[in-house]
Amino acid sequence: STYLVLSLPPFQASLFMNEQNPVIPSRFDVVVVGGGHAGAEAAYACAKGGLQTVLISMNLDTLGQMSCNPAIGGIAKGHMVREIDALGGIMGRVIDETGIHFKMLNRSKGPAVWAPRAQAEKKAYQNVVKWTLEETPNLSLRQDTVNSLLIENDAVVGVVTGRGHEIAGRAVILTTGTFLNGLIHIGEYQAKSGRISESSAIGLSDCLAHYGFALGRLKTGTPPRVLKKSIDFSKTEVQPPDEIPQPFSYATQAIRQQQIDCYITYTNAEAHRLILDNLDRAPMYSGQIQSTGPRYCPSIEDKVVRFTDRERHHIFIEPEGIRTGEVYLNGVSTSLPEEIQWKLIRSCRGLEEAEIMKPGYAVEYDYVDPRELGPDLQTKKIRHLYFAGQINGTTGYEEAAAQGLMAGINVLRSLRGEAPFVLSRGEAYIGVLVDDLVYKGVEDPYRMFTSRAEHRLLLRQDNADRRLMKYGHELGLITDDDFARMVDRYARIEGIRKKIYATGMRPLPEFDALLAEKGIPRTDQMFGKTVDSFLRRPEVQLEDVQVFVPEVMQLDEDHRRILEMEVKYEGYVKREMENIERREKARQIVIPADFDYDSLTAMKKEAREKLKRLRPVDLDAASRISGVDPPDIDLIHMRLLQLS
Ligand code: FAD
Repeated sequence: STYLVLSLPPFQASLFMNEQNPVIPSRFDVVVVGGGHAGAEAAYACAKGGLQTVLISMNLDTLGQMSCNPAIGGIAKGHMVREIDALGGIMGRVIDETGIHFKMLNRSKGPAVWAPRAQAEKKAYQNVVKWTLEETPNLSLRQDTVNSLLIENDAVVGVVTGRGHEIAGRAVILTTGTFLNGLIHIGEYQAKSGRISESSAIGLSDCLAHYGFALGRLKTGTPPRVLKKSIDFSKTEVQPPDEIPQPFSYATQAIRQQQIDCYITYTNAEAHRLILDNLDRAPMYSGQIQSTGPRYCPSIEDKVVRFTDRERHHIFIEPEGIRTGEVYLNGVSTSLPEEIQWKLIRSCRGLEEAEIMKPGYAVEYDYVDPRELGPDLQTKKIRHLYFAGQINGTTGYEEAAAQGLMAGINVLRSLRGEAPFVLSRGEAYIGVLVDDLVYKGVEDPYRMFTSRAEHRLLLRQDNADRRLMKYGHELGLITDDDFARMVDRYARIEGIRKKIYATGMRPLPEFDALLAEKGIPRTDQMFGKTVDSFLRRPEVQLEDVQVFVPEVMQLDEDHRRILEMEVKYEGYVKREMENIERREKARQIVIPADFDYDSLTAMKKEAREKLKRLRPVDLDAASRISGVDPPDIDLIHMRLLQLS
């Protein structure tokens, strides 16, 4: 790779107060700040990779806490969880152990777009994250707040905590989520909080601003939680889970948790009137909140204002667990005053007597422009300092976990003196995520969608293991056994695939019966061709070709779907692979770090300024910067040819 591996600075022991107190270990390879979804993955990857790691978080009882909905996965997000798992992260295994309502979304569509999602027993999820980290060798956990960074010669060498401890690290990963100068809003009420009833992180933002990082402010919101026994479920629609839950993790054999139903109700004209009548008390509309919220996850106030023609909006009633009476009302994120929230909720069918336990609220927080980062998530300004998660302007547990894992892996590689680990856009949604963040930046809280990926058909949830497990194995995060099982799985699929392509179709009574059943006309041209040609017909499934290749039934259901897709979409996949190859070639054309963009006078100013600021490492990265168009790339390319 062309990205520089930077050498490590020598330590100055005198810097660290605790060195004089040998009782408290204060020198680590890695310091991870924050124990949300990003911090948990980052700390796990570093420690599992053999680095002495400390995770410092404000409250160790909230490790892995789901700040908002008690669910993991969904469209594109579920894909990322499978990728995290294939790389050796923990999220997939934890949700498999604690999921109480698994559902494969998009099942009515082709398997290429299926997306796994599961509701979690929320507290159990946190406990399993905590337990996993507690059990990980080389990992220490400290409850404290990090207030500032220790920087020497443009490299981070440690952190200072609220209780005055100086802790040395050869690398530091910041994963502070919504806590940097967090300010919550419920109607006119405001409090300095990263999440309700939790303090915000004060000091660290100033420290980052002091070192010249570009900070911005974003906003997100959450709905009220209500008491289960106060809901009349008979007036709602039941949403059953999948009969056979599919695990997220490739290591999970089966889901053992009890599975429960979720429910649906709706808002109505009365609820919408209440919202419109009280907009002047909604912080989003009264001017109390200035920052931008997630465009694709709007508050109920936003939905009612923006979609005036909609008579009702869904409310998904999602239990936060089997062993809790707390229920999450998905779809009515709000920061209206509490009394309006009560009226609003009670105006909906089934919720007439609902008791709100925790009000909905909005939170504003500082984030750092992710274009401050290289593709390894290391900051460009301060060496060995990495950012991951919501601090980079993203939203969502999966987005955070993916970045945490990538930051952890990159610290691991950097401290081992190895090249950075950067996934391409054609390899993984995680590649798309990091690439979008560090080159394009964010305007509103960034969440992953399938539409963000150019090579969607290659990046399926079913084949994340095939795409990525080799990396997890090389890094020491995937066990030999899990890796061997994956290799064996695909060897069996490949063997049967070859058989399908090698077996000729011939007249058989069972085949005639199949044609009749499917309403496919029998023609002489069918015969003499190989079985794959028949399987490519839209109405034919893999199971149908068992008349010619009985071995297909030796594969389990998941693997049959994988094989079926590989045959049906073969032409498309081949074209996609060629596109990726072309891109990879362009990627190899390196732009020197001191390239003189000012000399390209024919280039439009906006593009030149952006390129100077972002300094992309190669032509491919340059081409993905918003505002940099193909003619600009041609200009750089031509100048590079002149220089070579
Ligand atoms: P977090 O999960 O926020 O974790 C940060 C951790 O760092 C916490 O444990 C905190 O205690 C710790 N910490 C922070 N600063 C310090 C410090 N200085 N020293 C020590 N420890 C520190 N996502 C969605 O996808 N959809 C939504 O609708 C949605 N709504 C949300 C609503 C609210 C009110 C909130 C708070 C979040 C919402 N999210 C939503 C976002 C989701 O919770 C986050 O994207 C995700 O949790 C981010 O993970 P993270 O690891 O980056 O940070």
